[in-house]
Amino acid sequence: MFDFDELASTVPFLRFLVIVVLAALVVITLRYMWQRYLIRNQKKHQRDISQRRYIRASDKEAVFERDNYTCQICGISRDYLDDLCPGLGDYLLLEADHIRSVKRGGTGNDIDNLQCLCWRCNRKKGGNKTNQEVRDEIDYGIWYLEE
Ligand SMILES: [Zn+2]
Repeated sequence: MFDFDELASTVPFLRFLVIVVLAALVVITLRYMWQRYLIRNQKKHQRDISQRRYIRASDKEAVFERDNYTCQICGISRDYLDDLCPGLGDYLLLEADHIRSVKRGGTGNDIDNLQCLCWRCNRKKGGNKTNQEVRDEIDYGIWYLEE
C-alpha cells in the first residue's frame, strides 16, 4: 500500500522546495513593489515637468506684447511682414519659448523666463542652446535684425 519510509525520505526535498517557492514569492513581491515605486516617481516627475512647462494664454500674449511680436533670435516681426504686404504678419507663427528650458529647471510661470520666438528659431533652439548659438548656426538667407 503506502510506503511511509519513502514519504519520509522526500521530506527534506519538500522542505527545500517550500523554501525556494517562498523565497521566489518574496523576490517577486519586492520587485513588483520596487517597480511600482519607480513608476509612481516617474509619473510625479512627468506631472511636475508638464506643470512647469505650461504657459498661461495671458502670459503668452504679454510676452508677445513686450517683445513687440518680434523673434528674439532672427528678428522677424509682424510689422516687418505687414510692411511687405498688409495682413501678411498674421501668418507669422510666433511661440513663447522658455529661455531656461524646463528640463534645466526653468518654468513657464515666470514671465522673465519667456521670450517671443518664431517657430523656426524655436525648433532650432530646442532645450539646451542659447540665442546666440542659434543665431550663429542659422542661415535663413535673409536677416531681419537691423544691427
Ligand atoms: Zn526667428
